[in-house]
Formats: sequence, C-alpha cells, structure tokens
Amino acid sequence: MSSSSSDWSSKKVCVIGAGMAGLVAARELRREGLDVTVLEQSAGVGGQWLYDAATDGGDPLGMAGVHSSLYASLRLNSPREVVSFSDFPFHPIGGGDVRRYPVHGELLRFIREFCDVFGLMDAIRLDTTVVRVAVAPPRRDGSLRWTVRSKHNGDAETEEVFDAVVVATGHYSQPRLPSIDGMDKWRRRQLHSHSYRVPDSFAGEVVVIVGCNVSGKEVALELRRVAKEVHLSAKSTTEALTPSMSKMLARYDNLHLRPLVEHLCEDGRVVFDDGSFVIADAVIYCTGYNYSFPFLETEGKVTVDDNRVGPLYEHVFPPSLAPSLSFVGIPAKLILPRFAEVQSRWVAQVLSGRRTLPSPEEMLRAVEEYNRAKEAAGLPKWQTHHLFLDLEYCDEYGERHCGFPRMEQWKKELIWSSISDMRDDIETYRDDYHDSDVIRDGRRLHGWPPSPPLAPRPQEKDDDDDRRRKAFSPSKFSLR
Ligand SMILES: Cc1cc2nc3c(=O)[nH]c(=O)nc-3n(C[C@H](O)[C@H](O)[C@H](O)COP(=O)(O)OP(=O)(O)OC[C@H]3O[C@@H](n4cnc5c(N)ncnc54)[C@H](O)[C@@H]3O)c2cc1C
Repeated sequence: MSSSSSDWSSKKVCVIGAGMAGLVAARELRREGLDVTVLEQSAGVGGQWLYDAATDGGDPLGMAGVHSSLYASLRLNSPREVVSFSDFPFHPIGGGDVRRYPVHGELLRFIREFCDVFGLMDAIRLDTTVVRVAVAPPRRDGSLRWTVRSKHNGDAETEEVFDAVVVATGHYSQPRLPSIDGMDKWRRRQLHSHSYRVPDSFAGEVVVIVGCNVSGKEVALELRRVAKEVHLSAKSTTEALTPSMSKMLARYDNLHLRPLVEHLCEDGRVVFDDGSFVIADAVIYCTGYNYSFPFLETEGKVTVDDNRVGPLYEHVFPPSLAPSLSFVGIPAKLILPRFAEVQSRWVAQVLSGRRTLPSPEEMLRAVEEYNRAKEAAGLPKWQTHHLFLDLEYCDEYGERHCGFPRMEQWKKELIWSSISDMRDDIETYRDDYHDSDVIRDGRRLHGWPPSPPLAPRPQEKDDDDDRRRKAFSPSKFSLR
C-alpha cells in the first residue's frame, strides 16, 4: 500500500485545465468530497472545443500559444452518443445542430451545460495560466504537497499550495513537425493543421498536405474546393489507399496522392521521394501533436520522451509522486470523454482514500512491463499512449480501478460502425449511416430520439455489424 492511504478528505486539489477532462475530473473529485480549484488559462471552459479564430499568425508552425486546433467547419468525427459522459448524454438540443456528428459549437454548448448542471463554475478560475508546479515542503505526515504558481491575465504571479494536482491540459496544441530537408529555407507558406482555420486564403493555390490521417484528409477535402491542386503526401501510398482515399481521388481531379516529401527547394519545388515534384504555394503539416507540460518541475521524475509521458502507472500516476500528482486525458486514439471520466473517478477515489494504489515499486514495474509489451508488439515509443480504440481494455480498466460500468453493447457497435463507415467514405459517413437493430434498440432504451431520416446510400451495403466488427482492424483505424 502506498501513501494513498492517508486521510485525504477535505484536502485541496488543483485541476489544471477546464477542457472535458479537467471538468469531469472536477466533478468526480467533488463527488468524493474534495476541495477543488480548476485553473484555466482561457477566457472560457471547453478546451479544444472553445474555437479560436486566431491562428498563431506570426508563427504558423504553431508554437505561439493558441490552444484550440479546431478549424471553422469542423464537425465531430465520433457519434454524439459516445462523446457523452456516462450519466450526462449529449442529447440534441432544440434549436441546435441535432445531427449525430454535429458542428463543433454544439459540443461546446454541451460542455457548458455540463458545468451548469454540476455547478462547476464556482470552482473554476478563468484567464489563469499555470506557469509552475513544483513539490512544496511536505506535510507533517510526510505526504507530498505542491506549489502552484499561476498568472491571472496581466496580474503578478501568485503561488498557492495544494495537497494534490491533477494535470488535464490536453495534448492537441503543440504541433509535432516532421524534419524535412529544406523546411528552414522554404520561403513560401508553411503551417501546421493546428493553425488552419478557413480555406479562403488558399484559393487558386497549389497545396501540399503532409499526413493522411483524419485531419489531412478533411483539410484536403475542404481545400480542393478552392485550391488549384491539392497533393496529399503519405508515408506509404499503399497503406494510405483506403477505400475512402480511393473514392476521394476518383471524385476530384485536383486531388492527388503522393509519397513522402523528400525535400523542399527554395524555388518552391516540393520533391517527393519517388523523384516527382510539384511547385507549391503552401505546405500544411497534418502530422499530429506533442505532449508538453512546460509548467511541471519534477526533477526528472516525469519526463516526455518522444511522446512517452512517463513513467505513468496506467497513464495516470507517476509512481514516485502518486497519488498527489496525476494526469487525466493522456491516452490517444480512443473516444476520450468517457475514458477521462473513468480516470477521474479513479483519481478521486484514490485521493479520498477509498482506494489504494500499489507500492511505487510495483507501479514502476507495471509501467515497464506495459512499455515492454508495446515494444514487443512493434509499436514505436511515440505511440505509448495510443489505445487504438481497444474498448475491452477500456472496460477492464474502468472495472479494475474504480468499479466503472462497462460500455453498453449498442455504443460499442455504434463506434465500430462509425469507424468502418469513415474508412469506407470519409466524405459521407457523417450523414449516410444505417443503424443495426442493436443500435436502434439501445438508443431508444436510453432515451435518444429517433435518428433523423437519412439520404439513400449511393450503393447497397448490408448492415451486418458482425461483419463490420470482423473487418475492423484496430491497428489501422484513424481517429484523433
Ligand atoms: C481538430 C480536432 C478534432 C477533434 N475531434 C474529436 C471528435 O470528433 N471527437 C472526440 O471525441 N475527440 C475529438 N478530438 C479530441 C479532443 O481534443 C478531446 O475529445 C477532448 O476535447 C480533449 O479534452 P482535454 O480536456 O483532455 O483537453 P483540452 O480540450 O485540450 O483541454 C485542456 C485545457 O487545459 C488548458 N490549459 C492548458 N495549459 C494550461 C495551463 N498552463 N494553465 C491553465 N490551463 C491550461 C487549456 O486552455 C484547455 O482549456 C479532436 C481534437 C482535435 C484537435
């Protein structure tokens, strides 16, 4: 048993970040009777979903501090039924966008409603940036405490001491850029998808998009309407040639699939590694994001190494600093809100003393075993926190750590069919889907209104979810 056994009731907990993860953490911590303060750098709650028209203008490769990476036209890529929290469904609201995959502003409305319903706003300090988190002198019983230094708007920095800190700062804000020969000398426009908002300024241009995951494809589809040519560059053109990509290429003459960019030339040429080239006006990097915790001082006890945050026991607790330091929302390639709720409940139960953690040595051993297993499976370090939508793992995780109920079968089927539809046709899957009986019954039983009538499909497809599940390959799916 670790230090988690000490009496945590009425202890002060600081949650950093008021995105979906930080907000659900605040709710769970309060439910366990803890005294919660949420510090949020933005002027509102919502995190990524607080759309920001600013684009890191002076620094289009994206290091200038804008948090949200949403572009103006973005619609959710996961069904609203599964973006919900376990006891707070993201039901369509009258007057809003009632579609299954609504526009991003709809999710922001839902998040604000979540705050209102659970009375969270009085715990949240907006416009407050955390600039330093470091170990404070310990309490008399030896347990760790944390000094949190923050800055409210233009005010002087202030310091407070907390018994625990929950880091929920998200990980889709710091661009992960490839290293391409000539990038530093290329004088035309280069930006990361983090800084892409609207297509207008690309009208008539030749654009190269590096990266063919969801963002790359969606930005390409938006740009091809106004641009002269759009070239999508993939690590492997064979792997990139999914049914969805084939359809995109067949539909639009000005959309092209290209291999890896080999180098950029000062005269505007973008040379691909098969020797072909285009003269481009802009390069957009849709190449993902890095984890970053610039405020955290742990004397090397928590590091970020090639996107591995660690060591973190079950992606949450750094063994030598647990339970007073924890992270919620680290995993990627899953539908986060519910999993962040699971992690939050676990953290809250540990901090309130209802659950204990293994010893630091055991936690460290578990982290090492987990990393070894990932490596043995051939996964690179930067994918340490990718869960590849392993819903069974998520269920077991929740049951094991905090008695969280398993996800209902109809929701799982909805996730599988959504991913399968997306892989089949990324342009139409949001508005052209056919629910199985299991999904239809599940929705009805859980109070979801009937889905709006949908346009007939261009081609016949059966609705056998079993077939879809078999065809679904977790290692290949793309999800942010
Ligand atoms: C383009 C895009 C599309 C996406 N689409 C989907 C989708 O369709 N479905 C889906 O489920 N997920 C989607 N996601 C993933 C989405 O980010 C997560 O669902 C979820 O919003 C992450 O919540 P979070 O609270 O972990 O992080 P965030 O939403 O990023 O919130 C972190 C919060 O921490 C604050 N913060 C950061 N640093 C500090 C600091 N030093 N001091 C104080 N505050 C700080 C930030 O301002 C922010 O409010 C998408 C992501 C992107 C980028």
